[in-house]
Amino acid sequence: MSVVIALDLGTTGNRAIAFDKTGKPLASAYYEFKQHFPKPAWVEHDPKEIFKTTMNALNDIIDQIGVDCVSAIGITNQRETAVLWDKHTGEPVYNAIVWQCRRTTDRCNQLSDSKDMIKEKTGLFLDPYFSATKIEWIINNVEGVKSEIEKGNILFGTIDTWILWKLTDGKKHCTDPSNASRTMLYNIHNQDYDDDLLKLFSIPKNILPVIKDSIDDFGTLQSSYFGKEIPINAMIGDQQSALFCQCGQDKGALKNTYGTGLFLMSYTGDIIAKTNRLIQTVAWKINGKISYALEGSVFVGGSAIQWLRDELGIINEAKETESLALSLESNDDVYLVPAFAGLGAPYWDPTARGVLIGITRGTTKAHIVRATLESLAYQTQEIIKDIQVNNPDLNFKSLRVDGGASLNNFLMQFQADISSISVERPIIVETTAYGAAGLAGIKAGLWTEDEFRKTVVINKNFLPSMDENTRDLVISKWKKAVNRSLNWV
Ligand code: ADP
Repeated sequence: MSVVIALDLGTTGNRAIAFDKTGKPLASAYYEFKQHFPKPAWVEHDPKEIFKTTMNALNDIIDQIGVDCVSAIGITNQRETAVLWDKHTGEPVYNAIVWQCRRTTDRCNQLSDSKDMIKEKTGLFLDPYFSATKIEWIINNVEGVKSEIEKGNILFGTIDTWILWKLTDGKKHCTDPSNASRTMLYNIHNQDYDDDLLKLFSIPKNILPVIKDSIDDFGTLQSSYFGKEIPINAMIGDQQSALFCQCGQDKGALKNTYGTGLFLMSYTGDIIAKTNRLIQTVAWKINGKISYALEGSVFVGGSAIQWLRDELGIINEAKETESLALSLESNDDVYLVPAFAGLGAPYWDPTARGVLIGITRGTTKAHIVRATLESLAYQTQEIIKDIQVNNPDLNFKSLRVDGGASLNNFLMQFQADISSISVERPIIVETTAYGAAGLAGIKAGLWTEDEFRKTVVINKNFLPSMDENTRDLVISKWKKAVNRSLNWV
């Protein structure tokens, strides 16, 4: 009984990984599921397919390791995505509306008088990104849902909740505060659903899941699946899970995930840190004690590298970017602002568009590649700076990194240089899954929090080596480039 399974329920696919006590992945399986785009900027998933692919992944790893060694399961998930289903039949009333879906943009504009109240209570910006307006949309647009809610037949959940309900055969309808805090219905100060917000969005409380701690008794995977009940010990949103894995309860650390987008998080303990331009969110709740984090999301990170490969065709694969960037002494003043979908934190300008500036007759593809990689680091730096300016007491010692593009050594060194911070990359790349495994393993007695932390080993450290004048100069040029990208469409 020394293995813990993490279910990592992502936006494009579901993964199951079995970890042993040392953090070694013993078995892993991944199944993609279909993305549905019924209209431009609308994004949906089929909840039944999400469950099916979760089970496929789980089946595969149980086939490899057997069920007897498994002590617990931890769930981590894409956040905000909303599902409503019939609690008697288990049938979803509509597809899951995904966090990326922009169908409620007009509704958010209509509610703009409430945006300060929403920020104050939830720590979030009034935006279609979060669950509330998605739930409201399903209730108002899917025939029969309102009357079924009145009869008490409907449940809502984010993906953690939906999968938990399925795994426990409908016995548990629960979530944790890290997920609840992304619904826009949760008051981060009172740590509960907020009546004013429920009223604003006309969402009845009886459809909402019970909020437990992030480490808690979430019931068991029913024995009908593998012949043995397995306790489900943890639930946590994906970015918070990576934060737990990387930094734990250490206020001196930041983590940044360099995936399709960039997600920077700073653990702020029991304090809801000051910010105007970042999200204040729950990190997790353990033993009844809530912890908070600041979060900055950048829409375009690694996807800019995909753009170099798929649209421009100037590289064949992502890892080539490292040697191309290193083939130059400097960026020769070429900057790329990848505002392909507007700019997220800290600018929040949906009308911004991409800019490539500083090009001359001598500009080569290496310059464009280097400018693209550097843009990931500059965008990250702007969020770090925002946190530092608003919270001078948070004295960061290091930046812990993960995600596909964190494997790029040029990018990591450049990040260390322009942020003047030590960048630390762990051996384990699946930090999201491992965070949830860590939480579940703590409750199962596999490790204490300290013992778990010791299994997260850093294998590369990038130390800052750029002088201050150069740093100030290149950052000021980046800002000039950003200014040219703002307010375009
Ligand atoms: P996600 O979880 O968002 O799908 P991943 O963490 O798997 O993302 O990272 C994939 C992203 O990282 C892709 O956008 C890819 O272009 C980028 N990437 C992968 N390897 C490298 C590399 N060596 N250098 C730069 N970018 C990379």
